[in-house]
Amino acid sequence: MGEFDLIARYFKRPPPLAAAAQVTLGVGDDCALLQPRPGQQWAVSTDLLIEGRHFLSTVAPDRLGHKALAVNLSDLAACGAQPVAYTLALSLPSVDEAWLAAFAQGLHALADAHGIALVGGDTTRGPLAIGITVMGEVPPGQALLRSGAKAGDELWVSGHLGDARLALEVFRGSLSVPLPVWELARQRMEQPTPRVALGLALRGVASAAADVSDGLCGDLGHILAASGVGAVIDAADAIETIASRGVWMGASGRLDSNLSANPPLPAEWQWLDWVLNGGDDYELVFTAPSALTEAVRLAAAAAGTPVRRIGRIQAESGLWLRERDGVLTRLPTRGFDHFA
Ligand code: ADP
Ligand code: MG
Repeated sequence: MGEFDLIARYFKRPPPLAAAAQVTLGVGDDCALLQPRPGQQWAVSTDLLIEGRHFLSTVAPDRLGHKALAVNLSDLAACGAQPVAYTLALSLPSVDEAWLAAFAQGLHALADAHGIALVGGDTTRGPLAIGITVMGEVPPGQALLRSGAKAGDELWVSGHLGDARLALEVFRGSLSVPLPVWELARQRMEQPTPRVALGLALRGVASAAADVSDGLCGDLGHILAASGVGAVIDAADAIETIASRGVWMGASGRLDSNLSANPPLPAEWQWLDWVLNGGDDYELVFTAPSALTEAVRLAAAAAGTPVRRIGRIQAESGLWLRERDGVLTRLPTRGFDHFA
């Protein structure tokens, strides 16, 4: 199968109805032609996924298709933008039709769920890598930025942090968990849910937002730096993991499906580290004025996304953790850095 047959078979499809008005011309010409609706501007973001660096070679291709788009949609979510269109740059070691069919299925399923059109791309032979650029609409002045946090604002996160890191630790063989925990954690790592509906609902409510891809401390650190403020995280509020959701895990060094056994939970500091620095969460971290607590809860309910308040923004710089005994510890605001 040649390059053009491959594109026609797996990646050329009519835009979903939701994006039809904005997509004047899609796959097939030298350029796609896009037109935002009146009163909107484009929000654009790119993420590149390289085998061995961003995903394991063991990941199922449909899950990879999902994740490649999900991490990009997560950036639109963090800006409060409505997804419209995307391009796909694909580097493949060979043409494996079963792999391509499954990859495309996972990709298109998530795209259809968000009404987003694949409008172009590039396909080449090389090491497995996937580069996606997403385009979304947002009215001028309404995008959620990193720079809007103010002293006194409350600090929030969506969903649960640390689950993907837990799955990674199991993959690395450094701990074992019961099978149901494993399946949940693995799904969280391989098929993250971009919080698009929450980002849209937080327009006009959140003062700043970012998505958590490189660890909470690192991504919150970007908000603090851009806003010129600091923050205190309450450890007691920040820890909610698979373990505290009622399923425990063991440390026997192998996958354990026996839920009646009772290996000890890992130390709380271990969980906390995964929550604070785990990475690959694709949740939103955001701030909102304390007068808007109820508005945040309403936005979360409207989006069907759980949120939790984990701390507060302060004028004094730095990121601090208030531990259960009240002691404040300074946290480094370093997220994962490919070149560190
Ligand atoms: P060019 O050589 O002019 O850049 P290509 O031959 O690379 O064009 O691609 C032909 C058409 O197919 C273009 O419209 C391009 O956007 C689209 N395309 C190529 N690869 C992909 C892909 N992986 N997914 C979607 N569209 C693609
Ligand atoms: Mg090309």
